[in-house]
Amino acid sequence: MSKSEFPLVGIFGGTFDPIHYGHLRVAEEIVEAVGLHKMYFIPAGMPRLRHTPIASSQHRAEIVRLAIQGNPRFVLDEREIYRAGISYSVDSLRELKLELGKKVILCFVTGVDAFIKLVEWNSWRELFNLCHFIIATRPGHVLTSNHDVLPKELKEECSQRWVSSADSLRSATSGLISVAPTTMLDISATTIRARIAAGESARYLIPDAVLSYIAASQLYS
Ligand code: ATP
Repeated sequence: MSKSEFPLVGIFGGTFDPIHYGHLRVAEEIVEAVGLHKMYFIPAGMPRLRHTPIASSQHRAEIVRLAIQGNPRFVLDEREIYRAGISYSVDSLRELKLELGKKVILCFVTGVDAFIKLVEWNSWRELFNLCHFIIATRPGHVLTSNHDVLPKELKEECSQRWVSSADSLRSATSGLISVAPTTMLDISATTIRARIAAGESARYLIPDAVLSYIAASQLYS
């Protein structure tokens, strides 16, 4: 089996507090455009780089389960929920590499906003030895063509890693970066939480099953 035939697997990490159509549409489009075998959704247990999630990790995982049900390519991976301490993506990627084997190519999916802050992640340079990155476009966050929006050390680390087509991700097992021009949906979990807290509708921003679960569990209100 040559490298070009290894299956590509997407890893979508996030707080998912709650997961919304911005996440789901990005995942669907990237699975299709890149030809990913699966997309693993990994809700962070205790994220280090942001506020403590409002909903418990169990609730957030359950919400992801409901949101992705019926999509055979989407998988809920609860490892960060059950791992003690702060959730680091590098730990999950190391584990997945061992579990799935060397003949699977891992592709970490982030929005532009998250990628710009990559240097704040634990062992961020090691990530390039473990996976490729696929960056989803997101309203309000622009990755200029000269990449000047990236901090200097990240821009330097990335300089030889950009590829112009998702197909090129098959030419190596890790370390490349592709930008996926996904549909721009200006949806954030922050806005959804605020709407629910204000008693406003979050319908059509999140799947109905998620909406019902949030209401029944009285989350964010
Ligand atoms: P919050 O508003 O609470 O900060 P969020 O909506 O940004 O949450 P996260 O769970 O923090 O959601 O995001 C997980 C990943 O999904 C990040 O890489 C983020 O950039 C990306 N993402 C979230 N919403 C969108 C969107 N609407 N379009 C593209 N990417 C998105």
